[in-house]
Amino acid sequence: MVATDKNFDVIIIGGGVIGTAVAYNLSKLKLKIALLEKEMELAFGTTKANSGIVHAGFHSKPGTLKASMCVKGSLMYPKLCQDLDVPYKQNGVLMVAFNSEQLPELNVFYNQGRLNGLTDLKILTRDELLKKEPNLQDEVIAGLFAPTGGVVSPFELAINLGESAKLNGVEVVLDSPLLKMEDRKNHLLITTKDNHYTAKIVINCAGLYADNIARMLGDDSFSIIPRKGEEYLLDKRVGNLINSTIFPLPTPNSKGMLVIPTVHGNLMLGPTAIEMDKRDEFTTTALGLKTIYDFTKNLVKGLEKRDLIASFAGIRAASDRGDFIIEFSKTNPRLLNIAGIESPGLTAAPAIGEKILEMVKARLNDEGMSVGLNPSYNPVLPKKLHLRDLKGPELEKAIQQDNRFAHVICRCELVSEAEIVAAIKSGARTLDGIKLRTRAGMGRCQGGFCTPKILKIMSRELGIPVSELTKRGGDSVLVPYTAKELI
Ligand SMILES: Cc1cc2nc3c(=O)[nH]c(=O)nc-3n(C[C@H](O)[C@H](O)[C@H](O)COP(=O)(O)OP(=O)(O)OC[C@H]3O[C@@H](n4cnc5c(N)ncnc54)[C@H](O)[C@@H]3O)c2cc1C
Repeated sequence: MVATDKNFDVIIIGGGVIGTAVAYNLSKLKLKIALLEKEMELAFGTTKANSGIVHAGFHSKPGTLKASMCVKGSLMYPKLCQDLDVPYKQNGVLMVAFNSEQLPELNVFYNQGRLNGLTDLKILTRDELLKKEPNLQDEVIAGLFAPTGGVVSPFELAINLGESAKLNGVEVVLDSPLLKMEDRKNHLLITTKDNHYTAKIVINCAGLYADNIARMLGDDSFSIIPRKGEEYLLDKRVGNLINSTIFPLPTPNSKGMLVIPTVHGNLMLGPTAIEMDKRDEFTTTALGLKTIYDFTKNLVKGLEKRDLIASFAGIRAASDRGDFIIEFSKTNPRLLNIAGIESPGLTAAPAIGEKILEMVKARLNDEGMSVGLNPSYNPVLPKKLHLRDLKGPELEKAIQQDNRFAHVICRCELVSEAEIVAAIKSGARTLDGIKLRTRAGMGRCQGGFCTPKILKIMSRELGIPVSELTKRGGDSVLVPYTAKELI
């Protein structure tokens, strides 16, 4: 028996950047919506482990969903990030050629970008390039520059999209893996670890597991082909070596290995692109580092292995169809699949969210349900204060209002106790959740200094013993029982 408060118009499966962008858009409508995420927090899937580039759109083949969603999404970023208080910088993307054989290929991408609707692409000469990017290697001969490209904090975007959706009425249910889905004629019946739910429409945004979800209703029209990418983060000391994101000419299955200035002032090198059988194997390797470093040092001068502060791997949820899949299932008209969202999925997310709003509205209208607007919808999130941005009178005022701004918890990224507490109040339940929201633990010492302090604050605010706090939920307990007194 399903309790009435578990009956929804729309249920979204998956709280990555796609699921949260869909939730954010659908919250503009007067609908009863839930988002179910299997992990303890939003953005714990591929959304937390990628390059953070807002692509301009010249990489994707004209006529594909990847091309149209990428170009549209990219242009939506400045306003969306302003509304949602998400770090974003429009630094431009630059594809560089190092020999004359690469010049025709550079032109192919120029023409492809024009066909995709980019009007401001420019081919730059060697002199123009070196004026813009003096640390490019001397052998560079030409480049393709797209000014609309940028960089963003992908997990902060997804978390804030989710927070906005929640404030606008979407029920966000974490730690809630979808286990079973059944067709009950007028709705779908969903079973999670703890509950049953019904929905008129289920939107499958399960990333690496989207094919498994579709198969629950007999839809085997696509399969996910996981492709892993290792990334290497360098210290802020070298953050200013380049201004734009530097791309080589791409390979057949990836955009190649890049030098990326992150939105928070680091440099990032990567990613690799290795097809795998597993969907949960996130190790980084000595070979990955060597491959990336040997390649990227030929693009930009001054890259040193000693500046490496962290490494991670993410897995692209590519599909056997090649393009993004955004369609109602042919097997069950109540299932809407958003799958195969590999790169440029982060860039495309805002446009995919908008497209889904139209598709859902039209489908519910077909069923005779006229869907109105949410009268209390508010697209803007209140701005959060960050110690790293505060100076002079602003800092004094913040400390007067909350003296925990004067208590530095993370020295590398300058994060205060007030921000850690605010992150917990807005829903962080794990150490990684705090890290993604505040950057505490993301700096040069990688949490060596701040982790014990954060655990103490979490324990105090959440009323949970330190020995039960986890890094990312599940069994990732941080402090073994016997060592808890050390904290
Ligand atoms: C190395 C790398 C670099 C990349 N760089 C870029 C880039 O620079 N720019 C760009 O545009 N794109 C980039 N991408 C692609 C981008 O990261 C993805 O397209 C995007 O994050 C996909 O988001 P998603 O929401 O579909 O997937 P995810 O973030 O994986 O979200 C899916 C969610 O579904 C949840 N889920 C799964 N199964 C269930 C279930 N049964 N019940 C409930 N929840 C479930 C998961 O826990 C997860 O949170 C990159 C990808 C990789 C791997």
